[in-house]
Amino acid sequence: MRTYRVKEIFYSLQGEGCRTGVPAVFIRFSGCNLRCAWCDTDFSTYTELTAEEIVAKAQQLTKGPGYAILTGGEPSLQVDAHLLDALHQAGYQVAIETNGTHPLPAGVDWITCSPKEGSTLTLRYADEVKVVYTGINPEHWRANIESPNWLLQPLDKNGHNNTTDVVEYILTHPTWRLSLQTHKLIGLR
Ligand code: SF4
Repeated sequence: MRTYRVKEIFYSLQGEGCRTGVPAVFIRFSGCNLRCAWCDTDFSTYTELTAEEIVAKAQQLTKGPGYAILTGGEPSLQVDAHLLDALHQAGYQVAIETNGTHPLPAGVDWITCSPKEGSTLTLRYADEVKVVYTGINPEHWRANIESPNWLLQPLDKNGHNNTTDVVEYILTHPTWRLSLQTHKLIGLR
């Protein structure tokens, strides 16, 4: 039976992007095809779960239908139509957080693309594009992907962040909006 490598499943509030504050069950998959210098995700441990086991765990947490966010790692390396169907049949609206380099199964309800410098996007549309600002001009991503929502997020590394630079960039390039990791500000996962 098909299984998925799942790092963790937990219930919290979406902390970032357009849907900040929405309660969601996070399904975090292990593994990624990129190696970002600031990546804080540990992929060394995971549990092999079937789609049915993932849905059952989500239902234990949300006590009914809700909002499920497929994240990682890079969830598109594992998420398929079978898992998507199982979540939809259980009444979940399904979102995905992807780096945009790998195709997605059809039918995802909300796509967040967080592109990484040096990578090549295969995704052509996302409901929101969320760029972590490293100081590199983020405008070049517009040539590769369409979206109604362009979000710039500070780089948070070793206790330092460049929020001031991000605010200044947005003030001078007002098609962007600020995205903060609000869950970290209030001590949520
Ligand atoms: S794309 Fe995301 S999960 Fe993958 S290495 Fe970069 S920060 Fe980590």
